[in-house]
Parts: sequence; structure tokens; C-alpha cells
Amino acid sequence: MGASDARAPLEAAAGESKVEAVTGLLPSGPSADSLVAAGWRDRRSVLPFEGGETAGLARLRGWIWEGDHLKEYKETRNGMVGGEYSSKFSPWLAFGCLSPRLIHAEVRRYERERVENTSTYWLLFELIWRDFFRFSSIAWGSSLFQLSGPRDADLSKSPRLWKRDPALFRAWAQGKTGYPFVDANMRELLQSGFMSNRGRQNVASFFIKDMEMDWRLGAEWFEALLIDHDPGANYGNWTYQAGVGSDPREDRYFLIPKQSRQYDGKGAFMRHWLSKETAGWSQSDLH
Ligand SMILES: Cc1cc2nc3c(=O)[nH]c(=O)nc-3n(C[C@H](O)[C@H](O)[C@H](O)COP(=O)(O)OP(=O)(O)OC[C@H]3O[C@@H](n4cnc5c(N)ncnc54)[C@H](O)[C@@H]3O)c2cc1C
Repeated sequence: MGASDARAPLEAAAGESKVEAVTGLLPSGPSADSLVAAGWRDRRSVLPFEGGETAGLARLRGWIWEGDHLKEYKETRNGMVGGEYSSKFSPWLAFGCLSPRLIHAEVRRYERERVENTSTYWLLFELIWRDFFRFSSIAWGSSLFQLSGPRDADLSKSPRLWKRDPALFRAWAQGKTGYPFVDANMRELLQSGFMSNRGRQNVASFFIKDMEMDWRLGAEWFEALLIDHDPGANYGNWTYQAGVGSDPREDRYFLIPKQSRQYDGKGAFMRHWLSKETAGWSQSDLH
């Protein structure tokens, strides 16, 4: 789905006409679909993602075997810059171009033929999260899309306001909150359709806990733009972050400046996506 299809959250958030809401948020110029058809890609994207089973199998072979990246996945998986810090299997998994069973079998073969360590364990562990959200979503049904979530949380006791403020939504969606770590991640999503797991957790936490917005608007924006969108994983993770899903803890909170220092200390990621804004900034200005 291209960026030009990103309508739902805007209508819901703004109560504005469709045209007014959409034109204000999306980059101007040709539609995303026509750009993709013409072979255009944002060169800053983590990978030049290509659809289909052949490309998915090539990625599997390239990342696990040729690049030998699996053996250090546990150490690199919180990265944000480049193609190799994590597997990037998600778009192919979401479209059914790669089978999780095949990935499982390849990880087991790698353990036999190369090395079995905490990294090989961790990749399978992440695939189990995927399974968990997929099977849970079947059991949860439409409660997954309701504000009180699958847990049917008592919102009268919630500390949050669950706002639907159009100005706040726009700032977040366009990557203009003023928090470079959040903005760089949101620009990556807008320009490339991908975002790292570390980024997704942070921008979701920021949207829910700092902006105090209705989590469903954030989830819809992800749904409209992510090239790996998967309803179970997306809504499952958003409800988890919002404290209305499988994890009853409502105090889960990501302190953005701390996360930014910890995971992008030198600012390589923020400078990658916010090169104009951050030109001339010192390292401490970034956090
Ligand atoms: C708010 C939020 C929304 C998300 N929305 C989606 C989504 O729409 N589609 C999607 O595939 N993932 C989603 N994720 C999970 C995760 O961020 C991505 O799967 C991951 O970043 C994709 O990159 P990768 O393939 O390199 O992952 P790797 O780190 O290499 O992990 C391997 C595979 O494990 C699975 N996986 C890893 N982490 C998770 C997780 N937390 N939940 C479910 N499965 C996981 C994915 O299939 C992934 O491809 C979301 C996470 C958050 C916090």
C-alpha cells in the first residue's frame, strides 16, 4: 500500500474532509505507487526491498549464510542504521513470500553447521512473538481494535487522556515533534515504509504516554505506511504499549532522551534522516 492510501487516521483524528486532511500530511509530488512503478527508492532506506519469493529467499540466504549475520543478531538487533542489524524478513513474512517454518528450519541448520548461541535462540524467540500475536489476534477478535483492547481495560481508571488532537497527530506523523529521535524514526517510516523495532517502540510510547493520544490513531498510521504491516503484530504491539493488551503493566515508558543516548549515542541515525535540520548541531544538541 502506498503513502497515497493513508487516509483513515486523518479522517478519524481531524474530523476534517478527506482531501483537506490528506493533502496536509503527505509529501507533495507524484503518488508513491507511481514512484515505485518507476523504480524510485529513497536511498536512505535500510534495504532496497524487492517483493516476491525469489527476493525473500535471496535475503534469507544472504543474511543468514553469506553475510553470517545470525551469529551476532542478539548484539545488533537494536540497531537502526543499515541493512544488517536485523533480518528484515518482516515484509516477506507479511506477504507470505517467506515461511516462518522455513526460517525456523534454516536457523536450526545454521545451529548444526555453524554455531548455536543466544543470537540463534533470539531470532526464534522473535518469531514466537509473531506467532503469539497472530494466534492471539484470532482469539481476541475485534477487541484488538477497540480503545480498551483485548484486556477490556477499565479506562475510567486510566491515567491517560486518549486525545484525538489533529495538530499533535500531524506533528508526530510528519516527524515534526521537535524530538530528533522520534522525528528521525517517523521520517524513515514516511519516506521508506520501514522502521526498526527500537524505533517502533519509542514512537509508539511517545504517542501514547507523552502526547497522550488515542493509540489507535498511531496504529492506523503504521497500518497505512508499513511495508511489513501485519494486523496481529501491529495492533498487538500497540495494545501492548498502551497497556490494554497482553501485558497488563501500564507503567511501561520509554524516556526519549535516554533511549536516544543509549541507542543512537553518536547520532548517526538521527543525522541520516534529519540531515538538514541537524547540520551544525553538536552531539549533545541531538539528545
Ligand atoms: C508498535 C509496533 C508495531 C509493529 N508493527 C509490526 C507490523 O505491522 N508487522 C510486523 O511484522 N512487525 C511489527 N512489529 C514488530 C517488529 O518491530 C518488526 O517485526 C521488526 O522490526 C521487523 O524487522 P525485522 O524483520 O528485521 O525483525 P527481526 O528483529 O529480524 O525479527 C525477525 C522476525 O520476528 C518477528 N518479530 C520481531 N519482533 C516482533 C514483535 N515485537 N512482534 C511480532 N513479531 C516480531 C518479525 O516477523 C520479524 O521479521 C511492530 C512492533 C511495534 C513495537
